[in-house]
Amino acid sequence: MRLSRYFLPVLKENPAEAQIVSHRYMLRAGMIKQQTAGIYSWLPLGFKVLRKLENIVHEEQQRAGHIPLLMPTLQSADLWRESGRYDDYGEEMLRITDRHGRDMLYGPTNEEVITDIFRAHVSSYKDLPLTLYHIQWKFRDEIRPRFGVMRGREFFMKDGYTFDLTKEDALHAYNRHLVSYLRTYERMGLQALPMRADSGPIGGDDTHEFLVLADTGESEVFYDNAVTDIRLGAREIDYDDKPQCQSIMEEFTALYARTDETHDEALFNQIPEARRRSARGIEVGQIFYFGTKYSEPMGATVQGPDGKPVPVHMGSHGIGVSRLVGAIIEASHDDKGIIWPEGVTPFHCGIVNLKQGDEDVDAACNQIYAALRAVGLDPLYDDRKERAGGKFATMDLIGLPWRITVGPRGLKNGVVELTSRRTGESVEMSAEEAVKKVA
Ligand code: ATP
Ligand code: MG
Ligand code: MG
Ligand code: MG
Repeated sequence: MRLSRYFLPVLKENPAEAQIVSHRYMLRAGMIKQQTAGIYSWLPLGFKVLRKLENIVHEEQQRAGHIPLLMPTLQSADLWRESGRYDDYGEEMLRITDRHGRDMLYGPTNEEVITDIFRAHVSSYKDLPLTLYHIQWKFRDEIRPRFGVMRGREFFMKDGYTFDLTKEDALHAYNRHLVSYLRTYERMGLQALPMRADSGPIGGDDTHEFLVLADTGESEVFYDNAVTDIRLGAREIDYDDKPQCQSIMEEFTALYARTDETHDEALFNQIPEARRRSARGIEVGQIFYFGTKYSEPMGATVQGPDGKPVPVHMGSHGIGVSRLVGAIIEASHDDKGIIWPEGVTPFHCGIVNLKQGDEDVDAACNQIYAALRAVGLDPLYDDRKERAGGKFATMDLIGLPWRITVGPRGLKNGVVELTSRRTGESVEMSAEEAVKKVA
């Protein structure tokens, strides 16, 4: 993309309404625009990052054998009356009446709709296990929308639902989700720690939240610092291998790591003092096994091997895709702007032309631009007639991992400058070498 033809409305000033760094940088980098409280337009740069995260989530879910579909944002209240949640859900639910006076709602989550799909089409245990998921907009009328896309009212979420014949199978589905989530966050350049969370009024069920440690996080967390040393890395995973998924789950959840709701001071104090941590975290996902909570009242049963109907064991598993954009920035920035991890960057590389209009410099930039595109990369070429300082400031703000700077002085010696956004280190080399380094 040539910046002269792009739509990147960067702001020079810090917007007064932004209290945290990710919100500030997302506004300044022209990624989002608030339309009304907690509701945002995703401008081209922000939209690109959102799509990248969405793709990673899709890839990792499908790698785990989970099947994508798409459910609507608007739902009928009647389904929620069946599950008993219509009255319980409270003021976070946006309730709508259509022209015929029918009660509708903008879905805050989809357990009811997916259970309705399941019961309409699945009747035998032979069709299990089944995991269906979608990535769709949700609406929750948050009492205090804030921090930009971190706590929006409209937000983009991946929610997956598992259907199994037995609790044992359902717990394998749970472990599979835990492992696939770890992979997902690692690909995004993030560490998200699974922490034992509160299962709410039902109690006794299994649930973990995934938390990104950040001072601006809204959750209070307590953990053994040794958990931060564990990585999934590049290990081979067979998602059908129950013992493997189980052992990874155990590896990542054996040490103490809990949110304040389940925090146990006595247990916590058994951790060697030097490793005890209390901190803030951003909830970027949650996995939940809840048994037959929805299948029983909504009649989602299958015929078991003995011919008798059994309610299916279910779980639901969410990732906050739009919140992750903010969470990644909270975890990766400096005082000049965002520092995108390679896996999620909106453009792979920036090209800065230091003397727009100079025949040689323009030609060299065009060549680099074409060479990067030829190897399948997506560069952003700042071809505007602006002073160098402004161009550098924009590149630093939008945080692309690499910048290739081309000026008349370097070209005379046959070199351009390659700069790493993360380390700030600049090295002179030939244009060909720079292209090779970036690719
Ligand atoms: P929170 O505790 O932050 O209110 P939640 O526990 O209510 O979140 P879940 O129902 O677990 O949310 O939804 C799955 C994921 O969706 C969350 O882990 C979070 O990442 C994301 N999410 C929830 N609410 C919002 C919101 N208002 N804005 C952006 N993302 C959200
Ligand atoms: Mg909530
Ligand atoms: Mg929560
Ligand atoms: Mg949650």
